[in-house]
Amino acid sequence: MLYELTAHALHEKLKNQEITAVELAESVYARVDEVERHVKGYLTLTKDTALEQANRADTGFQKGDEMPPLAGIPIAIKDVICTKGVRTTCGSKILESFVPPYDATVMTKLYKQGVVMIGKTNMDEFAMGSSTENSAYQITHNPWNLDTIPGGSSGGSAAVVSADTAVCSLGSDTGGSIRQPAALCGVVGMKPTYGRVSRYGLVAFASSLDQIGPFTKDVTDCALLLNAICGSDVLDATSVDMSVPDFTQGLINDVKGLKIGVPKEYFTPALDTEIADCIHSAIAVLEGLGATVKEISLPHTEYAIATYYIIAPAEASANLARYDGVRYGYRHENPEDLINMYKRTRSEGFGEEVKRRIMLGTFALSAGYQDAYYKKAQKVRTLIKSDFDAAFEKVDVIATPTSPTPAFKIGERIADPLQMYLSDVMTTPASHAGLPGISVPCGFVKSGLPVGLQLLGAPFAEEKVLRVAYTFEQNTEHHRQKPQIQTNGVVS
Ligand code: GLN
Repeated sequence: MLYELTAHALHEKLKNQEITAVELAESVYARVDEVERHVKGYLTLTKDTALEQANRADTGFQKGDEMPPLAGIPIAIKDVICTKGVRTTCGSKILESFVPPYDATVMTKLYKQGVVMIGKTNMDEFAMGSSTENSAYQITHNPWNLDTIPGGSSGGSAAVVSADTAVCSLGSDTGGSIRQPAALCGVVGMKPTYGRVSRYGLVAFASSLDQIGPFTKDVTDCALLLNAICGSDVLDATSVDMSVPDFTQGLINDVKGLKIGVPKEYFTPALDTEIADCIHSAIAVLEGLGATVKEISLPHTEYAIATYYIIAPAEASANLARYDGVRYGYRHENPEDLINMYKRTRSEGFGEEVKRRIMLGTFALSAGYQDAYYKKAQKVRTLIKSDFDAAFEKVDVIATPTSPTPAFKIGERIADPLQMYLSDVMTTPASHAGLPGISVPCGFVKSGLPVGLQLLGAPFAEEKVLRVAYTFEQNTEHHRQKPQIQTNGVVS
């Protein structure tokens, strides 16, 4: 089926005019009709405009134009990325009817390539969460087992690629929101170096951590999507002004001579033993292919979550102050006065977790506590970054598990925020340091749920990360496995 293929395989078929982009889009929407009611990965589907976009791509292919690698390729976009004319809710009731008047820079870049946007994907409200259960709209189900969560906060973007209801997608990662759902849904997910991709039009959660990145079916597609979205942007002062390599040059099936560091702090008793086994086997595969594997230490790892839950909520409390019901978004209908309007708009418009973060952040920044919490957290963040700087003097890439557990049952952690926060114990350290990180499928636990291997690089060393990921993928079969979605007893 066309919807099962990778973007690079589809590009060949489109280029040779074996298929049309319209046929491809229709194939993906047929798959949506078949399984989306079980997976619930989408908040909005944009079939009419998608077919117009596909038609335009077909015109180019038929004329024999030199078409970019993503022309005609069906892509899904996390609902935190602004899409002109297409509702962008951030998974929140407060933005239920928000239709952005402009495109995020990544969208402008993707449209320039001629992509076909299938729809906007479900997410934890304002990207706060690890299970997608914090969406104000629906719970997304993990295609590998519909009773489990897909991870979060980009759970919809991971699930639709896993379920073949999109060929690829974009998500955002603040503390692990691309890597963790990619691991739990058995797909490739990458967070580029902080500053590689413009955040213009990415609705802000924690601005010093947020970064957009791809979900794909393989590492080659990941490189192609990175090529399309990376680069400095005058509209985002934190985007880095440096040249962007052709990331497909990192697709080298060879790790000989590369040093891979394995940090001992990531192998704690909290790590599921079956996951630990998968990771050790994956590292052994890389060693067998000629990489040098060495144990390293990142001594401040244990403080990453505590630090994250000061810095991220502090930034969120400032960023979310703009949702006050005045200019856009939800507004309480019958306020007593202006202050009452603000209060009721925000109480009614935001969900529980978002309110918890606003309160945590406001407290951490308040007079008398700022030094004790926020300033101290910034110092610890620097220590975490220094651990990585020292490690990358000795190794090229760091290999760890992406998530300490496989996908958990829907509802299992919702009443226990601390348990939920611990889902990101392996991803937040690299977020603090702004490092590039990828999660690639590396096996399955006995219950059949997928496991992800996280590979981290020094800042702007995406190509090295891709090289290790690609070599692993080319020498293993995990990424070829597809979930069997149980649709009322019928497998699709
Ligand atoms: N799960 C983490 C949180 O809740 C990370 C979310 C993210 O990366 N957007 O904040």
